[in-house]
Amino acid sequence: MNSVCVFCGSSTGANAVYREAARATGEALVRAGIRLVYGGGKVGLMGVLADAVLAAGGQTTGVMPRALVERETAHKGIADLRIVESMHARKELLASLGDAFIALPGGPGTLEELFEQWTWSQLGIHAKPCGLLNVNGYFDPLVAMIGRMVSEEFLAPPLAAILAIETQPEKLLERFRAYRPPPRKWSSPSDATLQL
Ligand code: AMP
Repeated sequence: MNSVCVFCGSSTGANAVYREAARATGEALVRAGIRLVYGGGKVGLMGVLADAVLAAGGQTTGVMPRALVERETAHKGIADLRIVESMHARKELLASLGDAFIALPGGPGTLEELFEQWTWSQLGIHAKPCGLLNVNGYFDPLVAMIGRMVSEEFLAPPLAAILAIETQPEKLLERFRAYRPPPRKWSSPSDATLQL
C-alpha cells in the first residue's frame, strides 16, 4: 500500500475533535510511509489533513477541478497538484491513484465519494478497500443504516466487509494491509474486464 485517498469535509465541523482526527490521520499516514491522495483543497478538514502531512514531512498528491482552483481553494503547499477538467475526471483520477479509500467526517460530498469507491469495489471496477473513521460517533447513524442494508438483504455481508469501520486511523491502515477482496457482485467469466 503506497498511497491512501482520503475524502473529508470541506468544513471543519462543530467540534475540535474532528480537526484532531484529521491531523492524527495525516500523521498516521506519514508514520506508515503512505502518500496522501486527496481533493487538493485548503479548506475544512481537507486543509487540516494536508497541513498535518506536510508538517510531518510526508508526500501529498492533490487532484482538483479547474473551477475549484480558480475559486482559490487549492492548497498552495502541495507539490503534486493535478488539475483536471471536471468532478468526474477528478474522482476517476483519485480512484486510480489511491490504493485504499478513507472517509473522515464530512458532508454529502464526502459520503458520495466514499460510496462511489465502495460501489466500484463491489462491482470489481477495482479491488481496493474502503474505510470509515468513526470519530466522536459521527457516523453511528450511517453504521446503523449499513447494518439495516445487510439485515434487509440489500447488501451481502462479504460486500459490506469491503468497508472497514474504525475509530483510530492506525486500525484502518491495519485492516487495509490485511484486506483480501471478496468475489465481486455479479461475477461471471464474461465480465472479467468490467469498465466504467
Ligand atoms: P463535503 O463533505 O460536502 O464538505 O465535500 C467534501 C468533498 O467534496 C471533498 O472530499 C472534496 O473532494 C469536495 N469538495 C467540496 N468542496 C471543495 C472545495 N472547496 N475544494 C476542494 N474540494 C471540495
